[in-house]
Amino acid sequence: MLNIILLGPPGAGKGTQAARLQANRGMIQLSTGDMLREAVAAGTPVGLKAKAIMERGELVSDAIVSALIGERLDASAGKGAIFDGFPRTGHQAEALEILLAQRGRKLDYVIELAVDEEALVTRITGRFTCAKCGAGYHDTFRPTKVEGVCDVCGSTEFKRRPDDNEQTVRTRMEEYRAKTAPILPYYERKGLVHRVDGMAGVDEVGAAIDAILDGGA
Ligand code: AMP
Repeated sequence: MLNIILLGPPGAGKGTQAARLQANRGMIQLSTGDMLREAVAAGTPVGLKAKAIMERGELVSDAIVSALIGERLDASAGKGAIFDGFPRTGHQAEALEILLAQRGRKLDYVIELAVDEEALVTRITGRFTCAKCGAGYHDTFRPTKVEGVCDVCGSTEFKRRPDDNEQTVRTRMEEYRAKTAPILPYYERKGLVHRVDGMAGVDEVGAAIDAILDGGA
């Protein structure tokens, strides 16, 4: 039962790879971004606090996201966890260690998706998902086979994240550089970090991650 972190700037492919691992390995994707978007959509107290912060591309408080992860970790008992978009600060990294230890679990791998930042803006501003089944697409790199129709479920409704615009993406990258990238050395000292070329295609990146998790890299 592996517990892994996918670490990398916005648009590096964390969500795509987490979904793939969830489908192929029966692990559970724990995405604080998805949890916060659900809270915003449901209008919960957490959602009301997070909405404007997310729209600006800044980070929501460590206390809020750590509490969300704690709740979902319990729901994922017995399965490996893929932390996607968490931890994003040193405090969150410490909180995660405690949350795992309290449950008799530990971190096995930190997989860094290394990417070229300029390419990320193009990746992020072009992405959209099916409003019905959540399948992910991209205007340039992965359009639907038939324009306006979801390949998976046939729905004709799609959505784009409100924070996937260029200005917010720049802020999200600054937040990553200032607050998230500095946690890498902490994991490096523990010998947990493996770096993968996130600029490669989805399947290639997936294969590189599989090789690490299967102990071959
Ligand atoms: P993501 O879907 O991971 O790109 O996250 C979208 C937005 O949710 C981020 O830009 C932050 O505003 C917020 N968020 C998600 N995860 C965290 C986290 N671990 N810590 C702080 N804010 C977060």
